[in-house]
Amino acid sequence: MYGYQTTHVAAQFGQTAFLYHIVSKWNADPDVLDNDGRSPLHWAAYKGFADCIRLLIFLDAYRGHQDKEGCTPLHWAAIRGNLEACTVLVQAGKKEDLMVTDNTGLTPAQLASDKNHCQLAFFLGNARRLLDRHCDGNSRLGKLSKLGLAPVLWCVIFVLLITYIHSVILGPNLPKLTAASGLLAWSGVFLATAGLFMFYRCSSKDPGFIRMNLHDSENKKDDEPLLNIEINHPALLAGNWSQLCATCKIVRPLRANHCSTCNRCVEQFDHHCPWVSNCIGKRNKWEFFIFLVLEVLAMLITGGITLTRILTVPFAHPSFRARIQYAFTHLVGATSFLVVDFVLFFIVFVLTVRQANQISRNITTNEMANTMRYSYLRCRW
Ligand SMILES: [Zn+2]
Repeated sequence: MYGYQTTHVAAQFGQTAFLYHIVSKWNADPDVLDNDGRSPLHWAAYKGFADCIRLLIFLDAYRGHQDKEGCTPLHWAAIRGNLEACTVLVQAGKKEDLMVTDNTGLTPAQLASDKNHCQLAFFLGNARRLLDRHCDGNSRLGKLSKLGLAPVLWCVIFVLLITYIHSVILGPNLPKLTAASGLLAWSGVFLATAGLFMFYRCSSKDPGFIRMNLHDSENKKDDEPLLNIEINHPALLAGNWSQLCATCKIVRPLRANHCSTCNRCVEQFDHHCPWVSNCIGKRNKWEFFIFLVLEVLAMLITGGITLTRILTVPFAHPSFRARIQYAFTHLVGATSFLVVDFVLFFIVFVLTVRQANQISRNITTNEMANTMRYSYLRCRW
């Protein structure tokens, strides 16, 4: 009566394993339309079965089908307020998907706000801005946002180092350093420079990107086989649908995750660090950790040296007040260095302890935040 095929019914009831079975073993068409022009992807989006959507997109189901009402799967997910479904569809999609209008002339974002799904409307609006930025990656603004905050952090560390050398080690209003304390003072500079080198390695290195399967249903020719080789992947046979990346069209290894900033899947994805302008993953996690440790040590040494040098200025009548006054009038460089160093030390120290704790437990920041979502971790807790 409604023209439903088996794939429609599987999608309507969220039977991802069954859907996988009939498509891979019985060559069922994952892109077939019912009498209202709706594909299984429409139904999965309408019902909010995110795993089903992942699988269907992975199977090259077409995201842009418009049913008799002019609605795409994203429209239906937006109408029903299915945030996870929208996330999967948007991440796998293009900017145009967000701008398609239905027969009444509304985009998915407008439909979501019409139905009072405020969070979803905000998400869809935000996604459009983000995709805009991805698209004009060649414009000046796009390049700037790709550069991230790494140059800023680099400059901050560099300026701090220069201030330290100029105002603390060679400070004109400070007594000369003894050989031993001079060695310690310069070792701080050495550690910070080594840290900068590690920082450069961490931000320029490939964090463990996984190659995408660049094969888009939009540009697909009719004679091309619908399924690719990975369809018999053991992870899919075991029903681990979260390992499917709908964006990269791959079955990713366990512990890998998709980074929406880099728009790639990263092995042992820890987090995307805006200060490093890179993801932290399998291949650069040690550089990141060593960078943190080196900078913490450097800040500890330079801070200690600065404090002792400020406090040991020889005075005829050394009162605490006189010392403080002298520090703020004659040792401005050293005092401001001490304040900034002190603040940064605590921030980086907390981060280092957290990272060390996670490394010792062999768990990533991303996994810490999502412990409940990853079934392979559940047995450990
Ligand atoms: Zn991915």
